[in-house]
Amino acid sequence: MFDSLSDRLGGVFDRLRGRGALTEADVRGAMREVRIALLEADVALPVARAFVDKVTEEAVGQNVLRSVTPGQQVVKIVNDALVEMLGSDSADLNLDVTPPAVVMMVGLQGSGKTTTTAKLSRLVKKRGKKVLMASLDVNRPAAQEQLAVLGTQIEVATLPIVAGQQPVDIARRAMQSAKLQGFDVVMLDTAGRLHVDQALMDEMKAVADISKPDEILLVVDSLTGQDAVNVATNFSQQVPLTGVVLTRMDGDARGGAALSMRAVTGKPIKFAGVGEKLDAIEPFHPKRVAGRILGMGDVVSLVERAAEAIQADDAEKMAARMAKGQFDMNDLRSQLAQMRRMGGLGALAGMIPGMKKAQAAMAASNMDERILLRMDAMIGSMTIKERAKPELLNAKRKIRVAKGSGTTVQDVNKLLKMHQEMATAMKRIKKMGGIKGLAAMLG
Ligand code: GDP
Repeated sequence: MFDSLSDRLGGVFDRLRGRGALTEADVRGAMREVRIALLEADVALPVARAFVDKVTEEAVGQNVLRSVTPGQQVVKIVNDALVEMLGSDSADLNLDVTPPAVVMMVGLQGSGKTTTTAKLSRLVKKRGKKVLMASLDVNRPAAQEQLAVLGTQIEVATLPIVAGQQPVDIARRAMQSAKLQGFDVVMLDTAGRLHVDQALMDEMKAVADISKPDEILLVVDSLTGQDAVNVATNFSQQVPLTGVVLTRMDGDARGGAALSMRAVTGKPIKFAGVGEKLDAIEPFHPKRVAGRILGMGDVVSLVERAAEAIQADDAEKMAARMAKGQFDMNDLRSQLAQMRRMGGLGALAGMIPGMKKAQAAMAASNMDERILLRMDAMIGSMTIKERAKPELLNAKRKIRVAKGSGTTVQDVNKLLKMHQEMATAMKRIKKMGGIKGLAAMLG
């Protein structure tokens, strides 16, 4: 996502920053390139135009051009404008109402609406709320059953299915059940259609009348580019949306949908779907996304992902061992498992400044997951003693481990080297006052 836009803008800014002094013509030239880059990323034309006009006006100001670092200043202006275009502050769900709070999910068929309903329900449940999901999708075969299956997976209640019942009646029944059974939040997964049509809009309005939603979230597929923008425009004119969820942000969408959404709907993007799994959803943070687009990395999201992936007791055990400067193959193995939970090396690399290219290479060869699994297999082929004391691994033992894991001695050597490097890093962290000291340094 955003990769080619990011590369294009990176090129423009590198040229700007490379010069000591800038003229108005330089800035205007750069802004023309920015405009082309935005349009190629599928940003809606009026949105791209307004963006470039605003940035140009600020950037040709005398204070910028006469400053010591004009290129840097222009980049900052673009960054701030991007953040504004994406919606400034991140927006959460509004669930602090007299229960039950009602969240109505709307969108076209295939946009990821049902999956997103389950993902959000899982998040809301994690906040300690009692959630009821109800599928009003009587158009798509087995849609109601699909939601029930997801409900079982995330251990969230779903409204029992009554064959032949129509959406408005299902909504009414969901509201009654929620009140009677003391649910805090009702998630209504409405019926999608292949295209926006009047019947769909009328149905949305009727369901909204019955359920009085506190949130109406439009789910759009970011891969559909300009179409996503059109869908959002249509929906926002007819239904009082409160926010947008963009799905498939893990794909290689050019990003235009994300960048245009706020401007065309006037509503914030609240969440981003980043995969098929039910935990693959993230709050949408305009500042971080702008940072990612401008190639500055998204270190904050990285740290948050790490915190979620590392199970608390694992982390504690690890910290205790690290405090002693210990790091054996078992530790390495649990680190590898954590990396896998965090979406592999590729996903991580994209968040680290300057690592975008490495990420592309890894994603292209689908190496990351394979490498992690192979390392895990090698450690699995070691004896308990070897895992605790990797220095025991002489040539003969290495051959055995390689055979046992279907790898080569070279692979085993690489693993040992990696372990050695990490063990050294652990000792260094210990010297710096342990993880706590490190965390303090990172702020
Ligand atoms: P609906 O018709 O709008 O209810 O769509 P579904 O929820 O059934 O989703 C359609 C497909 O998109 C399913 O295969 C989902 O797993 C997939 N999907 C949904 N959200 C995402 C996402 O954020 N990333 C990816 N990669 N796939 C997604």
